[in-house]
Parts: sequence; structure tokens; C-alpha cells
Amino acid sequence: MTPYDDIAMPARARPDARSSVGAVEPRLDPAPLADGFGRTVTYLRLSVTDRCDLRCVYCMAEHMTFLPKAEVLTLEELDRVASAFVALGTRKLRLTGGEPLVRKGMMDLVRSLSRHLRSGALDELTLTTNGTRLAEFAGELAAAGVRRINVSLDTLKPDLFRTLTRGGQLPKVLAGIEAAQAAGLAVKINTVALKDDNAAELPDLIAWAHGRGCDITLIETMPMGEVETDRTDQYLSLKTVRAGLESFWTLEDIPLSTGGPARYVRVAETGGRLGLITPLSHNFCETCNRVRLTCTGTLHTCLGQEDATDLRAVLRAGGDDADLIAAIRGGIDAKPKGHDFEIARRTPAVARHMSTTGG
Ligand code: SAM
Ligand code: SF4
Repeated sequence: MTPYDDIAMPARARPDARSSVGAVEPRLDPAPLADGFGRTVTYLRLSVTDRCDLRCVYCMAEHMTFLPKAEVLTLEELDRVASAFVALGTRKLRLTGGEPLVRKGMMDLVRSLSRHLRSGALDELTLTTNGTRLAEFAGELAAAGVRRINVSLDTLKPDLFRTLTRGGQLPKVLAGIEAAQAAGLAVKINTVALKDDNAAELPDLIAWAHGRGCDITLIETMPMGEVETDRTDQYLSLKTVRAGLESFWTLEDIPLSTGGPARYVRVAETGGRLGLITPLSHNFCETCNRVRLTCTGTLHTCLGQEDATDLRAVLRAGGDDADLIAAIRGGIDAKPKGHDFEIARRTPAVARHMSTTGG
């Protein structure tokens, strides 16, 4: 008898059933994935590529050196490791990058992972995207069981969009958002608050998002990876933003918690929800339920610390499910208590870029 024999497993979650990208199904593991501080990890953000069709100024250097293909996990490896997390109790899986929709075969991976939705092992399969290729893929995402997506958008001004993304076309993203909504996907807008570039436009962006039936979340810029600009110049505390919004809107706190860094308010005048992610002005680590896996298979259990567990080494050394699960548990056990971001420090808190870690 194995430790899994007494667990009711849907046929789809049994070992040896093969998915469309060829991965072996994981076996459900009854012990919750908990770290050394008693936090249960139920949310994985999986970066499927470090590549992107945009070069946002706060995220990437203009001339980024991307990883050699051999270093990036194959679709089968991504499926296998994500499925191992699902077997360990992960209920929410977010695919990100880089830009997830530029990864070749991305829809095969989404369709394959969606079996965990159908089996009931996963509550949500979602992604964060810059929206440039959404018009092409929205229908397929919805058909695969994706229900909600996050789209990053920092301005509604085409020229500023082109500058911030170093060449991006705003109309493509707007068409992508429309296509997503038409396909039945709920869209949440993510906006990085930038002191010089979009601070004055934030009320318009919020009203626009709420007018389209979208939630919107504002994010403080985080010191991750070297970029050309000095982020201290663009850092804008969301405390300041909130005070500004409250001079003409009524913001009502709502007790919505995703276990993540966002605090939510309802804007009485628009009726929409506004999230505020304040990693720098407000620490959110006590309730953190999430970890990240880079596209090279490195597990980072804290966005703002250098801790790392190499799962690719386990996969490529021919490790079996037990080896993979032991490596995941070891990494999670060492999850740091909290991050160490401080915008006043001019060097990045961590050397890796958000695009590599998976934002
Ligand atoms: N390419 C996709 C996108 O832009 O939505 C997914 C990956 S991107 C790295 C995920 C999120 O990270 C985006 O919303 C982006 O604005 C945010 N981001 C990137 N660099 C950041 C930084 N230094 N500080 C705060 N947010 C950042
Ligand atoms: Fe690409 Fe997203 Fe980074 Fe912008 S934020 S450069 S879209 S990965």
C-alpha cells in the first residue's frame, strides 16, 4: 500500500495517464505543502519563458540577453513540475513570463494543464499577459477552462505606451482585451504606478477599467534586476496615490483577500474594485501562500530574496516523482520569512529580472 492508496483519485489524476504534452500524471500527496513558518503554499506562478515582445522600461534592459533554449524547461518538463505541485496541493496556477503567449506550443501546455481543472485538483488556471497576442488566443484560452486573466497596461496614451514598452502598439492590447471579454474571460488590469509617467493618468485608467467591467490593481515598482533607468526616480508610493484618489472618490475597504500582497477597495463612484499592491510601503509576507518557478526550473519561494532550489537538475538527472516532490518540499521548507525590498537602496534587492522570475 502506498501513502496515496486511500485517497480518492479521479481517473485523470492516476499515475501513468498521459497528457497531450506527454507528461506522466502526478500522484496526489496528502501532506500539505507548508513552509517552516507554518504557511501553506497553494499557489504557483510558473514562468514559461523569459522572452517577450515588449521591453517595458522598469522590467527589462533594452538589449536583454535571453537564455539559451536548452536552459529553458521544455513543455513536457513544465507540465511535469506544475503537475507535481498540483499533486502537493497547489490549487491555483498562474502562467506568466516573460510573455507567456509568445512561447511556442503555449496552448498545448494550457490544454494539457487544464486536465487538473476537470479532475477538480486545481481551482484555477490563469495567466498574466501583456495582451499583445490575446486577440489570437482568447478563444482557445476560454475553451481550455481559463476563466480570468490579468492584463498589464500602464497607460491609455499610444505614444506613452510606445515609450514605456519600447515600441509596443497600444491598439493591439486594447483589441486583445476586447477579444478576451468577448470570449467570456474576466480581465483584471495590472498597472505599475510610475511617478513621472502615469501618476496623473491613474484616475482615468481606473475609471476606464471599471467602465469596462474590469478590476484594476496598482503596483509599486519593485527593485528587481538591473535596468537602464533608476527606479528610485519613478517610485510612487501607493499611499500617496490613495490619498490623491480620496480627494475626489470614496474608497471603501473590502475584505477580499487572495493571500497575496493586494489590498482591495471599492470605488463608490464607479462601483469597481481597485487593488493596491504595496510591497515597499506595506509588507505582506505573513499571509504569503505563493511560490514562483522560473522557466529554467528554479524554485523561488520569495519574490524579494535570492533563495533558490534547482528543480531542473532533478528532472534532467532522471529523478522520479518522489525525488521531485522531495526537492519541492525541501525548497518550500526553506521559504524565507519575508522580503527585503527597500526602494532607497539603489542596487536591486535581487539580481534577477521580474521577467525571469515570473511576475
Ligand atoms: N509579460 C506579462 C505581463 O507584462 O503581464 C507577464 C510577465 S510581467 C514580468 C508580470 C508583471 O510584472 C507585469 O504586470 C509587470 O508590469 C510587472 N513588473 C515587471 N517588472 C516590475 C517591477 N520592476 N516592479 C513592479 N512590477 C513589475
Ligand atoms: Fe514583457 Fe511583461 Fe516585462 Fe513588459 S512587464 S517587458 S510585457 S515581461
